[in-house]
Amino acid sequence: MTGQIPLVDYLVLGDEPHLQATECTKCRARFFGRRNACANCSGTEFVSAAVATEGTVRSFTIVAFAAPGVPVPFVAAVVDCDGTSVRGNIVNTPPDPDHVTLGMKVRLATFPLGADSAGVEAIGFGFEPLLPTN
Ligand SMILES: [Zn+2]
Repeated sequence: MTGQIPLVDYLVLGDEPHLQATECTKCRARFFGRRNACANCSGTEFVSAAVATEGTVRSFTIVAFAAPGVPVPFVAAVVDCDGTSVRGNIVNTPPDPDHVTLGMKVRLATFPLGADSAGVEAIGFGFEPLLPTN
């Protein structure tokens, strides 16, 4: 019996993997991960909100140097998912400016990062081009 666990607690797996944001009930600002207070309005009440799985690349950086063991280059991006900004890597396409562009449509992609001795897989996420980039 094997299973899968998300690398971050705001990644929801299953038939339709998606990200789950923490949304301030006062000002609707969205965050990822646990919060004690809203960074925008200091509100302390939050609800969980599913984030759109498709979005638009708002900014990106091609990372050429990283810590030992981290494969480079890779593309670190900020993706606007229907109004929610999500930081993630662009995956499943060559990491160069011919294949990654501002305004490019992308969708959430999940992938296994490795398994522990019990066969439980850790699952990470990134964004892949919605359309083939050739
Ligand atoms: Zn707030």
